Amino acid sequence: MGPIVAALYFAAHSVAIPLTLIVDAGHGGDDPGAMSQKLREKNITLAVALKLQKALKKRPEAPPVLLTRHSDATLALDERVGVGELLPQAYFLSLHVNDSSHRKDHGVVIYAYGMTMPAPKSRHNPVEPLGPPPEDLAKESGRFALAIAESLRAQKFAVEGVVHSDYYVLRNRRHPSVLVELGYLSNTKDRERLAKADYQQRLADALAKAVAGYFSRRPGLPKK
Ligand SMILES: [Zn+2]
Repeated sequence: MGPIVAALYFAAHSVAIPLTLIVDAGHGGDDPGAMSQKLREKNITLAVALKLQKALKKRPEAPPVLLTRHSDATLALDERVGVGELLPQAYFLSLHVNDSSHRKDHGVVIYAYGMTMPAPKSRHNPVEPLGPPPEDLAKESGRFALAIAESLRAQKFAVEGVVHSDYYVLRNRRHPSVLVELGYLSNTKDRERLAKADYQQRLADALAKAVAGYFSRRPGLPKK
């Protein structure tokens, strides 16, 4: 069910509202994101998002997943954040693919708003700013980001870093929010891997493990 229907259902049935993970496949439709040869960031993020949703369904400890888009749809940044508006308990995970003028840049980069993190060497266009998120949300976003980084590193992925960013979706004022850049289209090795379904699956499985692990360890989070 969709988020609005879900919220009404839970309210009507006095059911404890489960924690939800909102997975946001970056870009889409008119906005291709980073491009290299025939590859489009929007297609890679959607492929990994769909695979991540499936991978999380197989893990009993993982929260249910809501996708901001299921197809090649154009979606504004405020619509992405708005997907979780009626869900009191949710985390927001946005998936992107990096691009750099430094061809050697490679690996995963994870962004969250806040904490004492180094500034990003970002190339995303700025959008109309939102105010900063509340401090407790920013702290939780940082913890979620660091946990994902730690898990991906333990699963042998190259993680360049966890950095502070004020991207629009990370200023989400309702839910802890993290943005993962899955690799660089500008790096030959990353690009070749990101184009392949089996590597997209590896990334999705690794993210599923990271997310499920985090939620199973976090005290005070409601079980579904
Ligand atoms: Zn992007």
